[in-house]
Formats: sequence, structure tokens, C-alpha cells
Amino acid sequence: MRDYYEILGVPRTATLEEIKSAYRKLALQYHPDRNPGDPTAEERFKEIAEAYAVLSAPEKRRLYDLYGHAGLRGEGQSAPHFTTLEEVFRYFADLFADPFFGDIFGVSGQRRTAAEPGTDLRIRLRLTLEEIAQGAEKRIEFTRWNSCPACRGTGSRSGRLRVCPQCGGRGEVQQVSRSLFGQLIQILACPVCGGIGQLPEELCPECGGEGRVQGRAEVTVQVPAGVAAGDRLTLRGEGNAGRRGGAAGDLIVLIEEEAHPLFRREGADLHYALQLSFPEAALGTVVHIPTPAGESVELSIEPGTQPGTTLRLSGYGLPQLRSRQRGDLYVHVNVYVPERLSTEERRLLEQLAESEHFHPPDARPSSTDGAGKSGALGFWRRRKSYAHRHRR
Ligand SMILES: [Zn+2]
Ligand SMILES: [Zn+2]
Repeated sequence: MRDYYEILGVPRTATLEEIKSAYRKLALQYHPDRNPGDPTAEERFKEIAEAYAVLSAPEKRRLYDLYGHAGLRGEGQSAPHFTTLEEVFRYFADLFADPFFGDIFGVSGQRRTAAEPGTDLRIRLRLTLEEIAQGAEKRIEFTRWNSCPACRGTGSRSGRLRVCPQCGGRGEVQQVSRSLFGQLIQILACPVCGGIGQLPEELCPECGGEGRVQGRAEVTVQVPAGVAAGDRLTLRGEGNAGRRGGAAGDLIVLIEEEAHPLFRREGADLHYALQLSFPEAALGTVVHIPTPAGESVELSIEPGTQPGTTLRLSGYGLPQLRSRQRGDLYVHVNVYVPERLSTEERRLLEQLAESEHFHPPDARPSSTDGAGKSGALGFWRRRKSYAHRHRR
């Protein structure tokens, strides 16, 4: 744990005034309104708030000077431990009234953390495999709550705000109720100002005091190569604007994939079915395999390639999102068997059927094998004769 004096940058002999102004300076520097979405600044903001909470309270400071952090572990005089920004603002709610801190926590400054933030928006984005392979820049149009341009999100016609009379600028109200255990005090967001602590002097006629209006939005999304269905891209602050200056929510883009007529995707690998004619498979050939990146790749087919053979084009698959490597493109060979034959073609094939190399190895009549294989042989013969009978 860091030393509180060190955190505020003051000597151990510092007066309360010196501690106050050191805190003021740092609180302004690390204020969430000035460092939106910066987690380091947020951590610092909470840290200096904790240091100030201790060093500005005389009894806490005395215990800390005597025993260090250990002095603040007891009941009553403990150091606050802030986990959220909300807790900081709630703890220092009393500083609203202090003009010295007014612009940090109070009435004249924007209490962004207290204003109701806008909601996130979700949008589906359909991509082709080509777009996924190369990455894409997509413009998307949608409807959302935008900050009102007439009043710049304040909800006030003149832009001026007044302190909320209901909560006195605190943005919260106490509700006291009786329970079995006695009085129960609940802290609620002020229903009049919605937790902001301020009200418009006069309502903006464009947005009726909401500080936001519904309208069209157009956003460009940079889709990195290699995304997959179900991936989400988050565009910070592109969601709905909050009421009266509340931070905007996020736009969450949900990736969907269009089915491709030629390729089947498996992670970063692609599968492609190649149809060869029987002579091509038997004699060998060179084919051109398309790729989703646009260009095609030459692939040589060895003479005697069997249907069911899988060939791999290394690195011709999709790029991987989190590495520089690419997947592979698998080519699955199928051999096309003609479905109709002319008389001449049939004559030639029948001639070839009798020749030496046209019998599959297992079905060669000359093979001398055991009962299992001759059983298989019988199966093939039956199939053949069945086919012949069927044709006639
Ligand atoms: Zn307005
Ligand atoms: Zn209020």
C-alpha cells in the first residue's frame, strides 16, 4: 500500500489547506470527465480520494501518523476503500456545498457519473467470406438517441442549469422507513433531477428537457480480417446518449456470416470440393483453385489421384484474428462418373473395362485371398449384375 502523503505529493507536516489544494489539483487532473474510459486515471482518482479522506479527517490522520495503514483497520476510524467512481462521489457528497470543490463534485461542474448513462445498442452485421478473409470497412445506419444539438445535451434552452430544489444538488434523496429493526434509511437517486443534481433553467423545446433526441446515426465499423460468427465488436460511446448529458452507451456489433457457395469454414481452415473428370484423375492435370482472397492457386493433380483424396494448400485459409498466421485450404477430390453415355462412349468404356488397369485392386479376379475378401468380391459382382439388369 502506498503512503498517503506520497500519493498526494505533500510533506508529513502539510497543513489541512495544503492537503486540500494538493487533492484539488490531482482530482481535477484525474477526474473521469477529463479521462473518459481511462482505467489508469480512474484508479488514480480513487487512490487520491482515499488518501484525502484519511488526511483531511483529523482523527484518521493522527492514527495514520502514529501507526500507518494498520492504524486505520479498526472500527470507526477506517480508511474508505473505493471500488467504483460512484462510491467516491457518494463519499464526498458533502463537498458539493464547499465552493473550493464545487467544480469537481458539485453544482457548476458536470457530474457525469451520476447522470443516467445511455443504454447499449446491438446490431447484427452480415459478412461474406471474402470480407472476412480481407477485413472490411462497413458503414452501418441505425436509429439511436443522440445528444440534443439545440441544448448540447443539457436539456436547458439557455444552456444554464439551476440546483435541483428537491435534493439540493446532491442528486440523491434519503428515504426513511420503519422496519422491524427500527429506522431504515435508503439512499435513492433524486426522482426530480434523475440523480444529476441540476435542472434546466428553462426546458429545451427541441428535446423537452431530455437532452437527447431520437435520430439516424451512421457509423463506420472496421472489421478485422478473421472474425467469425458470434464475435462482437464494441464501439465505445456509439450507443444511445444518456439523459441530460449522461455518458453514451456502446454500440455492440454482432458478426454473422453468409454461407459461401464454394467454401465451408472450420475455424481458420477452409474446405473446398473439387470435381475431376475420370480422365483428369487418371492422367493427372493442373487445376485452378479459387481462394476467398480473390486470386486463384494452381494445384497439380498427380496421375492416378483417387476420389476422397484430400490435398492441403498451406496458408490459403483465413487469417487468424489473434495471430499473424493463416489457416489452410483443404481440397477434397471427387471424381465425376458420367451419368449418361452415348453409344460410342459406352463402346469405348466397355472396351476399357476389360483392360488390365481398370480393375480396382481388391476386385481383381486373379487375386488369391481369404473368405472375407471373396465375400466382398461377391458383393461387387452382385451389384454389377443388378445394375445391368436395371438399365435394360
Ligand atoms: Zn435539447
Ligand atoms: Zn434532485
